[in-house]
Amino acid sequence: MATVKKSAKKAAKKAPAAKGTKYVYTWGNGKADGNGSMKALLGGKGANLAEMTRIGLPVPPGFTITTEVCTYFYANKKTYPSSLQAQMEAGVKNMEKIMGCKFGDAKGLPLLVAVRSGARDSMPGMMDTILNLGLNDETVKSLAAVTKNERFAWDCYRRFVQMYGDVVLGVQKTEGEDHEPFEVVIEEFKHEKYHKDIIDSDLTADDQKELVKRFKALVKDRTGKGFPSDPWEQLRGAAGAVFSSWMNDRAIVYRRKYNIPAEWGTAVNVQAMVYGNTGDTSGSGVAFTRNPANGVNEFYGEFLVNAQGEDVVAGVRTPDPVALMKKAMPKPFAELMKVRQILEKHFKDVQDVEFTVQEGKLFMLQTRNGKRTAAAALKFSMDMVKEGLIDWKTAVLRNPADQLDQLLAPIFDVTEAKNAKELAKGLPAGPGAASGKIYLNADRAAAAAERGERVLLVRNETSPEDLRGMIAAEGILTAKGGVSSHAALVARQMGKVCICGASAIDIDYDKKTVKVAGETFKEGDYLSIDGTSGTVYGGELKTAPSEIITGIVDGDKASKKTEKFKSFLKLMEWCEQATRMAVRTNADTPEQTRIALAFGATGIGLTRTEHMFFEGDRIDAMREMILATSLPARKKALAKLLPYQREDFTGIFKALKGLPATIRLLDPPLHEFLPHSKEQQLDLSKKIGVPVETIIQRVHDLHEFNPMLGHRGCRLGIAYPEITEMQARAIFEAAADVAKKKIAVKPEVMIPLVGFSKEFDLQAEIVHAVAKEVMAEKKVTFEYQVGTMIEVPRGALTADEIAKGAEFFSFGTNDLTQTALGISRDDMGAFLMPYIESEVFSKNPFATLDATGVGQLMETAVTKGRSTRPNIKLGICGEHGGDPDSVKFCHKLGLNYVSCSPYRVPVARLAAAQAAIEEGKGAAPAKKAAKKAAKKAPAKKAAAKKVAKKAAKKAAKKK
Ligand code: PEP
Ligand code: MG
Repeated sequence: MATVKKSAKKAAKKAPAAKGTKYVYTWGNGKADGNGSMKALLGGKGANLAEMTRIGLPVPPGFTITTEVCTYFYANKKTYPSSLQAQMEAGVKNMEKIMGCKFGDAKGLPLLVAVRSGARDSMPGMMDTILNLGLNDETVKSLAAVTKNERFAWDCYRRFVQMYGDVVLGVQKTEGEDHEPFEVVIEEFKHEKYHKDIIDSDLTADDQKELVKRFKALVKDRTGKGFPSDPWEQLRGAAGAVFSSWMNDRAIVYRRKYNIPAEWGTAVNVQAMVYGNTGDTSGSGVAFTRNPANGVNEFYGEFLVNAQGEDVVAGVRTPDPVALMKKAMPKPFAELMKVRQILEKHFKDVQDVEFTVQEGKLFMLQTRNGKRTAAAALKFSMDMVKEGLIDWKTAVLRNPADQLDQLLAPIFDVTEAKNAKELAKGLPAGPGAASGKIYLNADRAAAAAERGERVLLVRNETSPEDLRGMIAAEGILTAKGGVSSHAALVARQMGKVCICGASAIDIDYDKKTVKVAGETFKEGDYLSIDGTSGTVYGGELKTAPSEIITGIVDGDKASKKTEKFKSFLKLMEWCEQATRMAVRTNADTPEQTRIALAFGATGIGLTRTEHMFFEGDRIDAMREMILATSLPARKKALAKLLPYQREDFTGIFKALKGLPATIRLLDPPLHEFLPHSKEQQLDLSKKIGVPVETIIQRVHDLHEFNPMLGHRGCRLGIAYPEITEMQARAIFEAAADVAKKKIAVKPEVMIPLVGFSKEFDLQAEIVHAVAKEVMAEKKVTFEYQVGTMIEVPRGALTADEIAKGAEFFSFGTNDLTQTALGISRDDMGAFLMPYIESEVFSKNPFATLDATGVGQLMETAVTKGRSTRPNIKLGICGEHGGDPDSVKFCHKLGLNYVSCSPYRVPVARLAAAQAAIEEGKGAAPAKKAAKKAAKKAPAKKAAAKKVAKKAAKKAAKKK
């Protein structure tokens, strides 16, 4: 953790706080210092509160303490800039003026405030909210007197002491405790007085007074200090707690998962309280302007009468669907519907709002772009284009590429689900199907997942402490809470299957059991959950692929009729329109090729020929070839391999129907193919008729200390040219046979692991010679290319030399990462997490391209390759070709295509299209600037035109 803190410090040092800096931005009464575009400085919440105020929505007044203060706080031993107090006082004064009451007033109505954190993006794990701040033993009395509502005043005070005690003073459950200490006090009190479980809103004023007393005693007992009564001390304490929460473990875990820089910091929002807990004409709710689980255009959320916002999101009471508010509070509901329209029109996206109704009057407390599932994102984007809210390019950008595979995620096998025992129903909070062993605690769930088990996390409700378990689980099931509870929000964001509020399940944390429908499940037993319908099943259920998969891959007619399928196709069509870079696939069989083409691949970017030998007894012929000790023996084995290869290539060429196929010559890291166990060696000996002693000796001779850097790639073909010869023959004979059937073929023969141009030349010479021979023998001509992989640093650094002979480059970024970083691609498990935790890596470099390091080698190769051969074809076929961030980087490099596994093709297509659209947005101002220049200086019109032309050309080239 120390390193994380250090980086925040470093950032602060870079930007020391200037004198006279504005640290506090106020809003209220239709006016705001800030606006919606200032998220970096004001955080998402603060910026949008300012924006809502500006557009005339009913927002209680308040102020934002900027993220710069957070940076200052960490750079200066947790202290504040000297001018902050005065600026906060001015902020409080502004609120007092608008609200007509005073902060800390023990005689009249006291101004109470809510304090909330607000990072640029909302972040579970950080301090969330403290309500009713400003109450003490005196102000609570004046609040009760002025409102003539004693129960309400003490309810506010009780909540305040509880929240403040928990998040500011740190009175939280310790190891071994399963419940929050304040909740334990409440439960004990309820049973002591009422001998049953009553809901909080049934507690009387006297009950609340008693609870405040007990809470304060708890605080004293746990912290050794009394509860602070000075409102300003409370406010400073709350702000400090927000800033401190930026560096707590949960926030760090979250930032790491979502790649949020520690340097961003958080803002603090202080807002005048409005009260949802004054009685039956008041309430609080959270809602989405459209359904974030399935995308349906319906107001979707939850509402609780006589409650403050925390009650809705904490999942402690299960709220009502917001639609019921229409009946209970028709006027504020109608107003809310108007606000819904205004917000979507203004922000042009689905909003996630928090609101409070105080005695019939509606107040908006927050708006932000709603988190959504991939299915909802797809539907929102399609619908909003139809409604004219956004254009198609924005729609493409609205579908997160790294979420797209959720759409391709499995559902339960229909017949299995029909026959399975339905145990309970809950709220469908995260779509998809998941089956796994249940665990009732996040740590045990995470540990089980680490052991390789598929896990379901089952809790009464989740809190940010459960994040690790949620990340590890396939699915999350809660007994309490609604669709906007912590569990639901976080699950949706992570793309996890989730059911909330399945109230029929009875969890016993001590016994580690779940009782439901008369059955008892222990930890480690299987349950299955359908997060689309909200159904909980007993046992383990098989899953089935999504309609998109069955529609595209199997051509299933019913799937093709679904809205999801049609929308997906439309999205892909738009991607096609926007993209500059092509997407190919890494495929080794005709079936894989067929699937990839169905997903829109435009050719094969990598066929690993050694993978073609994994099937059946082909591996024996391959092993025979590797183990051969003489040329005749090797040729004999190669003769066996040739027909297999020719047959495979024929199938692939036919499946491609004239699209290009990059076929890589043999690159077997030998250790992957040698028979290591005695059993395997004996078996092989029988099959190929070579004495087992010879095999053992040969395996011994071929042993390599570092096989990844050993006798593989083109080194094999240079030592044994007959291997290259056989492969080239198989490729070209297949091409000739297919071409004769009047099917176009475009073979591209690729030489692996080239670091020296001579390596390439030696291998290319053989390939060209065989091509000539085969064309003459078969009396047919066809076009072909010979190129290379760039996958060792020397290859990248001497790309200009290599490009003299190579007609294309394909970046093998698996090996290029391995060799550039000097880190074995197979052996980083032991230090990957510590490296990510200490921020050496921000992401696994074998999954997401290390743009600064490996990317530089690629850039060099691109520049040098093009300097020799301007139209050289450039692609990537390492695993990074299916990773959205890496695809975007490849676009920036100007590659012609990326290649990835068949099921990643849609993800790569979406990322490639987004890269083109984002670049187009960036390029436009260049054109505009040139135009402006032309207008400004008519005398120099000709020259300006030239500039404009140049800029336009540059922009077009970039596209
Ligand atoms: C690579 O190294 O990126 C590559 C595609 O080749 P392989 O993974 O087969 O070594
Ligand atoms: Mg490689």
